[in-house]
Amino acid sequence: MEHELVVLTKEEIFQFRRSLMSWYRNHARELPWRGVSDPYRTWLSEVMLQQTRVAAVIEHYESFLVRFPTILALALATESDVLAAWSGLGYYRRARMLHRAAQFITREWDGVLPKTSGELRTLPGIGEYTCAAIASIAFGESIAVVDGNVERVLLRLTGRAESGTAAGRAFVQAQAGALVPRRRINVQVNAAGDHNQAMMELGATICLPRAPLCLHCPVYSMCKTRGEHVTSARGVQRSLPAAYLLSLRKRGTVTEVLLERRAKDTSLMPGMVELPPLPQDAVEGREPLLRVRHAITNTNYYVQVFAAKGPQDRGLRRAVPAAKNDLEWVRTSQLASLPLTGLARKVLQRLDVMEVRPLQLPESV
Ligand code: SF4
Repeated sequence: MEHELVVLTKEEIFQFRRSLMSWYRNHARELPWRGVSDPYRTWLSEVMLQQTRVAAVIEHYESFLVRFPTILALALATESDVLAAWSGLGYYRRARMLHRAAQFITREWDGVLPKTSGELRTLPGIGEYTCAAIASIAFGESIAVVDGNVERVLLRLTGRAESGTAAGRAFVQAQAGALVPRRRINVQVNAAGDHNQAMMELGATICLPRAPLCLHCPVYSMCKTRGEHVTSARGVQRSLPAAYLLSLRKRGTVTEVLLERRAKDTSLMPGMVELPPLPQDAVEGREPLLRVRHAITNTNYYVQVFAAKGPQDRGLRRAVPAAKNDLEWVRTSQLASLPLTGLARKVLQRLDVMEVRPLQLPESV
């Protein structure tokens, strides 16, 4: 279907694509998932990148692939192993859905990722954005990819106010669809995939939410607002205190740490493992072993970790509200294989309870 050209003329569209691609070729960041030929890698990177900083994704992307190098390897893994590899990236539902989709592809598609956006859309957990990204970047389909960065670029470029309405979203989608190249030029050049990546890169590195770098923008001459567009303020940030218990014990030469498994039916991070939370009144007047800030979406948690060291701290252990069945002693050597929450991993690493293991690459890599 041809998209309606709402604002830009055909000439402007060609000029836009040319300027954008020339800039992208010279300025794109080198990222481990760029230029890969394995669609599974593209899929994994797109899922990891949702609402997550690029730096955090870089940290996890290669190690995840070492553990689960193929869709089949991911499908055959336990959910707990997949969550352990995802630990620190947050939004664990993504890992669960990725795992389920890998099992679905293994069962229904002989382990091969389908190629079109329509087919990809039938996989569990793959929404409109992800299927468009995989279809265009991995398979060259002429379909627009619209994430928050692309939406911001297009609204500023066209001077359209941000509305958050269905009509506003349809406008952005139509603009993005009009800009994306129609045909694959040859086997080597994936015009649609490169264009979509360039649009996202422009939003991520130049057309920034707060202070766009307009003087470095490759489409400055075509932009209707050039830094004057009103972009809505970010959601209100909340601050909350949180306290956790660090309890260690020795069994011969083995050190164990007390951990709590979150309930399977809880809405936030079900089945994940963390240090046992403590009520605020149990820690009043005590000096923490560690203070750390941890941000989850719009909430900043000011976390304090308290050590239960000896008999005088038994009261602290008794203050843990978790049921006995939800608590377990775990060998510190096994921590890396557990589905730890990002915060638990951060705390255990900072306190040297958990080693940060170097990435084990297979010999062929
Ligand atoms: S000129 Fe400025 S506001 Fe316009 S698209 Fe480029 S960076 Fe964004």
